[in-house]
Amino acid sequence: MKTKCLIIGSGPAGYTAAIYASRANLSPILIEGPQPGGQLTTTTTVENFPGYPDGVDGNQLMEDLRKQAVRFGTDIRTGIVKEVMFAQRPFDVTVGGLDEKIEAETVIIATGAAAKYLGLPDEQKYMGMGVSACAVCDGFFYRNRTVAVVGGGDTACEEAVYLAGLAKKVYLIVRKDYLRASKVMQQRVLQNPKITVLFNTNTVGLFGKEVLEGAHLVEYMGTPREQLFDISIDGFFLAIGHQPNSAVFAPYVDMDNAGFIKVRAHSQATNIDGVFAAGDVADPVFQQAIVAAGAGCRAALEAEKFLLSVQ
Ligand code: NDP
Repeated sequence: MKTKCLIIGSGPAGYTAAIYASRANLSPILIEGPQPGGQLTTTTTVENFPGYPDGVDGNQLMEDLRKQAVRFGTDIRTGIVKEVMFAQRPFDVTVGGLDEKIEAETVIIATGAAAKYLGLPDEQKYMGMGVSACAVCDGFFYRNRTVAVVGGGDTACEEAVYLAGLAKKVYLIVRKDYLRASKVMQQRVLQNPKITVLFNTNTVGLFGKEVLEGAHLVEYMGTPREQLFDISIDGFFLAIGHQPNSAVFAPYVDMDNAGFIKVRAHSQATNIDGVFAAGDVADPVFQQAIVAAGAGCRAALEAEKFLLSVQ
């Protein structure tokens, strides 16, 4: 299979790159990975994507972007990228689930990021039995129960507010003495009578016979005021940030220490000529759908320009 432009990833960056690349007659192939539509498919209403004064359902937004990409001729395939060969052009990309390799003149990496876990052994033990990293996906199971959310950013606050609409009680476990979330989200959390914020608190373990029954917490860890205590909970939701999905590109593409792909200044170009990166996989700072979409547009325009320059 050959293409002038291979787009890897199906979030706002991938689909926007596909819309621009298709309209530029690059006949792109887009690989949608394990989570078609990306992270926005796990949110409820997206309130800050311009053009939707009343907000838009995350799934609907991604479905609309997908349709727009297909309308202009993007060839969408499903599979997980197993290996890339970026040593020379055209690039070879092996995708699990497709019988043949893809030979691409340019590649746009838009693989996004995945939720981080604390790294406690108990997280794996109770995975699907009380532990989750997606309130919107799993919140339904915790109607009138008690849950905890870990994190102090916008994701944690958003998840706590969402869960408060379903659960009896929500603990928000914050390791510092302040929330890092935007002011509007902080207000929603602090004004919600169902949410109790536990500041200066870390989680050190989880317990329960078969399913999750509670968490071991420490207040003021590592200080003279340190105090251990337990809370009884049925659900434990992680919202402590995201890890870029970039490992498969590591042999070739330059990244920072956290695995975010490095792009050149004022550009989506990576260290490999003809390989571009857009969206959360290359954005340690903003991580917003609209920024990812903008970066996808830039990557496609740069891919088009690059192809003209090497003709
Ligand atoms: P952030 O990186 O903003 O926040 C992560 C939170 O998790 C921080 O409070 C951090 O604590 C905490 N944390 C990290 N590691 C640990 C750990 N090991 N133990 C305990 N707590 C930990 O991630 P988000 O996913 O919340 O947001 C990412 C970006 O996406 C941000 O730019 C955010 O604004 C944006 N966003 C915007 C939304 C919107 O506008 N609707 C919705 C969701 C996200 P600490 O503060 O101590 O470092």
